[in-house]
Amino acid sequence: MGDSNDPNFVLTGVMGWPVAHSRSPTIHNHWIAQHRLKGTYALLPVQPEHLHDAIKGLAALGFAGCNVTIPHKVNAMKMMDIVHPTAKSMGAINTIVVQKDGALHGFNNDGYGYIQSLKDVNPHWKADAGPILILGAGGASRAIALSLLEQGAKEIRLVNRTKEKAQELAQEFSAFGLGQVNVIDWQDRNDAMQGVSLLINTTNQGMHGQADLDIDIALLSDEAMVSDAIYIPLETPLLKSARLKGHLTVNGLGMLLNQARPAFKAWFGLMPEITPALRQAIQDTF
Ligand code: NAP
Repeated sequence: MGDSNDPNFVLTGVMGWPVAHSRSPTIHNHWIAQHRLKGTYALLPVQPEHLHDAIKGLAALGFAGCNVTIPHKVNAMKMMDIVHPTAKSMGAINTIVVQKDGALHGFNNDGYGYIQSLKDVNPHWKADAGPILILGAGGASRAIALSLLEQGAKEIRLVNRTKEKAQELAQEFSAFGLGQVNVIDWQDRNDAMQGVSLLINTTNQGMHGQADLDIDIALLSDEAMVSDAIYIPLETPLLKSARLKGHLTVNGLGMLLNQARPAFKAWFGLMPEITPALRQAIQDTF
């Protein structure tokens, strides 16, 4: 960790409310220790009404930057001097990098983290291998869908319990002139699996403490990959049934770990790796 009076000490953290549950300090402090860097990554509990002051204070406090999480991802974007185009399209940031002159640059690495998590499991994965079915239309869905379109997905089938939210997302994405996003009724989710190359759960169903996702994957073809944004538990009931049916599965931990890598590189100057020791350190917090 080093001496915090050292001018080279790198201060970072995560702003959220509440934020105590965040695994990000475990991830970044693991890399700081692994690479014997001088710095720390702190929990920064910031109430919504104090977000502006907290963000404007980053440079004066000597922060290299920070992550922002729920409920600040949308509002924090409005306080940036420059927003990266992907974050702009997502309408939310998850990373702030303070520049030498104090300017604040906003990024969103959630989509990068998701794509990388697929490639970690299947290096040959291609976004245009076939239609992709996404369940859910919240924040995670928005980041994942946009990154799939940016990667060249030709057809996304979007299914959400509240259809209007899926329609809003699809309409927003149509303005980008990328692939097609087709909204499908929640009641037709099982039929929508026919012919897809990838099924993704971005709802909170199947998460620890929540009901299981009400779904039947019988119509999924054998080659389809199945992924879940959830990482507690590591294997959701959806992923378990998919694994038992012979599908390649991807859990949400890879997304969480991979989104942290570019932020760490921006603040500390090196791209960290996801090692078995890091995975274990996170799993020890579950
Ligand atoms: P969110 O914005 O609150 O969206 C929640 C989604 O779940 C909505 O689409 C919602 O549908 C749906 N949902 C909730 N209850 C449901 C039910 N009973 N039946 C069917 N659908 C239901 O949340 P989020 O931020 O997108 O997060 C979603 C999940 O992704 C969480 O489990 C979160 O932990 C995970 N996540 C993981 C990562 C990662 O790094 N791995 C990152 C972000 C999020 P309605 O619109 O109908 O309410």
